[in-house]
Amino acid sequence: MNPRPVLVEARGLVKHFRPLGGWGRFRRDCVRAVDGVDLTIHERETLALVGESGSGKTTAGRLLIRLVEPDAGEVRFDGVNLLQLRPRELRRMRRHFQMVFQDPYSSLNPRMRVGAAIEEPLVVHRLGDRSWRRRRVAELLEQVGLAPADARKYPHEFSGGQRQRIGIARAIACSPRFLVADEPVSSLDPPIQAQIVNLLAELQEKLGLAYLFIAHDLRLVRHVSDRVAVMYLGRIVEEGPTGAIFREPLHPYTRALLAATPVPQPGQRERARLRGDPPSPVAPPPGCRFHPRCPLAEPVCAEVEPALLDAGEGRRVACHLVHRSAEAAGASG
Ligand code: SF4
Repeated sequence: MNPRPVLVEARGLVKHFRPLGGWGRFRRDCVRAVDGVDLTIHERETLALVGESGSGKTTAGRLLIRLVEPDAGEVRFDGVNLLQLRPRELRRMRRHFQMVFQDPYSSLNPRMRVGAAIEEPLVVHRLGDRSWRRRRVAELLEQVGLAPADARKYPHEFSGGQRQRIGIARAIACSPRFLVADEPVSSLDPPIQAQIVNLLAELQEKLGLAYLFIAHDLRLVRHVSDRVAVMYLGRIVEEGPTGAIFREPLHPYTRALLAATPVPQPGQRERARLRGDPPSPVAPPPGCRFHPRCPLAEPVCAEVEPALLDAGEGRRVACHLVHRSAEAAGASG
């Protein structure tokens, strides 16, 4: 049990997209990007959402802050159902949750000075007068490791890491409580990645932020998150405390993802490697969606979809084999 209060809670989130086909028409089949996802994020906590590209991580993150409208499900922020808010109420609520984007350059207007870009959310939310906002921009620039004088520069005058710092300053401008960080360091070089990760950790400590940290690099996730949720083809397949997931991953997909990380732990056993590409989210396989790639698949796996069930110690897993071993252990115990 996490002793901190729940801040964000999503239940049964579904989002299907109809991609464009020929002649600019929408195709009849849907991409099932998110297909029944539950997520809980506590105050001051970092939940890492991991999985291969196309697993639905980014869409799930955007659904949590209603940047994308779900087809079904519910999202509660501090107990308030975001999907029932009227546009004006939602606009007011938005200052409490923000997004840090993967590519800081494309998320900044190249013709807008950095100071104006950071000030913009303060203007939108009508916070303070002009002189207060100028002081706030200077304070934010210092908070993210830049100089107040940088407010006069344009985005192209900064390096990739500095631009991500600007993106973070913009995201925290209105003192939010929750940030969705979508692959915030994946476009940066490793030493710069570490600096940005450290900055996010410092800000979390100082400002009491909660993060959904979307990533595909599991090495990074190990150092930044309290809990990990593993996503495969639109569903969560395993979830639990970071230490437990890395020490003893239970789902074959999590095991394969960890085996694919390039720095093995000395003395650790070789685990099953990931084979093949993920199937299309337009037509996910029946039963367990991972069964065509799973080295442990049995006939039941192709027919019955495993539920995401409690596996003890704050963990949940969707795998028939794990459920069966847990039942056997329970019967013999
Ligand atoms: Fe593999 Fe079957 Fe478990 Fe799916 S349910 S992960 S196919 S063993």
